[in-house]
Amino acid sequence: MNFYSLGSGSSGNCYYLGNGQQGILIDAGISTKAVNKFLKEIDVPMHTIMGVLITHNHNDHIKGLKVLTRKHNIPVFTTRKIWNSILTSNREISTDCIREIVLQQKFHLAGFDIESFPVCHDAPETIGFHICTGDKKMTVATDLGIICQTAAPYIKAANLLVIESNYDEQMLVNGRYPYYLKKRIKSDHGHLSNHQTSEFLADNFNENLSNICLAHLSKNNNTPEIALQTLQNTLSKRGIILKDQQRITVLNRNIPTEMITLTSSSFPEDSSSIS
Ligand SMILES: [Zn+2]
Ligand SMILES: [Zn+2]
Repeated sequence: MNFYSLGSGSSGNCYYLGNGQQGILIDAGISTKAVNKFLKEIDVPMHTIMGVLITHNHNDHIKGLKVLTRKHNIPVFTTRKIWNSILTSNREISTDCIREIVLQQKFHLAGFDIESFPVCHDAPETIGFHICTGDKKMTVATDLGIICQTAAPYIKAANLLVIESNYDEQMLVNGRYPYYLKKRIKSDHGHLSNHQTSEFLADNFNENLSNICLAHLSKNNNTPEIALQTLQNTLSKRGIILKDQQRITVLNRNIPTEMITLTSSSFPEDSSSIS
């Protein structure tokens, strides 16, 4: 599977996952024009996108949905509760594209087995996705204040992990945001700090984790260098050394990040992936 981040952060989130012949998008927080342009750069035509998975109703995740559904008629998959929260303020989204999924119930799309799981965030409902093909597993968990017990197994099971590393605690505390906003970001329903993400990854580091993508970095309260350094320092303090094939990538906020390819080492097996 090829993973390609088209944008990650409060200005807009959108990820492509596929093999060129068929694929999916995760979130649609950038314009459809930008999606078209960025996919063209990797030779992925829009008609090969079989569906869009949506994590929650915040604008940086759904901004492009109107045009994506009206112009390209692409089916959009999320829970009933998230659909309701989207449709109350976005009446122009084509209802023909509505596909409802059930939390933690597997469904099949574009050659992937996909399962959604709940995360803690300040939207009516927010979900992450665990996506499997063959023996490869990917988990996307952005926009979460803490890693709760329900989300943790999906995050631990990933070969390719896209996880939020939103803010540096010092930058947030010393920054210009008003008190209520700082409190919101730091709360259990806000965002994950570099420290929280690094500690969780160090606690649960394993050899199957081949790619860590640090995602949804704050523009004002983080830098790619600080996010990366925090994770590297935390891992090395614990004596964790990355193997040759293990990579850490910080996803760019407004432009695509170099494609990551995971190759299946064996034929599809029993996909009961969560232990
Ligand atoms: Zn967001
Ligand atoms: Zn959000």
